[in-house]
Amino acid sequence: MERRTSQRRKVAASTQPKTPRVTRKRRRCSALDHSTGENAGDEIAGDFFYWMHDDLVLTILSKLSSTASRPSDFINAILSCKRFRFLCLTKPVLSRASVRVLAVKAKNWSDSAHRFLWCCCMAGNMHACYMLGMIRFYCLGNRLTGISLLAKAAMGFHARALYSLAIIQFNGSGGSKRQKDLQAGVAFCARAASLGHLNALREFGHCLQDGYGVRQNILQGRRCLIHVYYNEITGEVRTDKEPHPVNVFMADWFAQRPGALEKEDLRLCSNKGCGRPETRMYEFRRCSLCGTVNYCSRACQAMDWKIFHKMRCTAGLLRLRFPAVFPAVAAAGGGGGDGGAVEEAAV
Ligand SMILES: [Zn+2]
Ligand SMILES: [Zn+2]
Repeated sequence: MERRTSQRRKVAASTQPKTPRVTRKRRRCSALDHSTGENAGDEIAGDFFYWMHDDLVLTILSKLSSTASRPSDFINAILSCKRFRFLCLTKPVLSRASVRVLAVKAKNWSDSAHRFLWCCCMAGNMHACYMLGMIRFYCLGNRLTGISLLAKAAMGFHARALYSLAIIQFNGSGGSKRQKDLQAGVAFCARAASLGHLNALREFGHCLQDGYGVRQNILQGRRCLIHVYYNEITGEVRTDKEPHPVNVFMADWFAQRPGALEKEDLRLCSNKGCGRPETRMYEFRRCSLCGTVNYCSRACQAMDWKIFHKMRCTAGLLRLRFPAVFPAVAAAGGGGGDGGAVEEAAV
């Protein structure tokens, strides 16, 4: 009796359809085995990538984040699958993200973009610290966290962050006029100049020449300026160079919100590639010839003078055309250049 029941069980088991107990690993292996079938090439490619070790995929994604030419290239990789999303948001990948990957446009600004930049900051990306610091300080009005992010980037030897901190210290941005710290501004400038930031070197040269925040040393200041001019003449510094993405962001941000500055009677830096706004009334310097343009720094003023304002400054043009009537300015090279003719607005 027992033998018959066991036989019946065996027959029933053989006739019932077996539920395939296939793990993900086996299914992938079987695709490799049946490589002669239809669409076998696609399956092999997919499975090959599936079997790649995480370290190798991380290396590829890190290379992508450091060399991608636009944010969408990196975002597409994040959206492709769960594994990529997880690996793309890890510290080794985010810490190497390039400026172009982080270049969020003002019209696309959102909480998600803010979080992405913040994740990059937490991963130790100095470009992200600089960019989010500038956006928070100037655009979102969050001065404390903005300046702390800039300080973090500066501690990571980010030259632009050091120069931006110098401008903030020179202008007393985010505070009153009394909170200007010229010595700190000169120190930040000197550090940024030592890292190869030429606008910082120009600013430092003028400070030395004028004794602004540092003991006057005309010869040393002139050497710094000659070094900058040499680089401009030899083409290492191009005046038509594309501005940094965060400067473009700030210019677009305030262009989309014209009332944000007007209601407080604040002005943007007149240099097209800067985008820094005033944080209080009459913070920036103005052109002493025409009084219609404002600059956050001498570097911005010198750049704008060479490209645009030299031809537009009415008083400057008159003095250039009639040197006999205005000999002093003509001998000085036209006025307005390199901060020579720019004076601080009366507060
Ligand atoms: Zn500026
Ligand atoms: Zn002018």
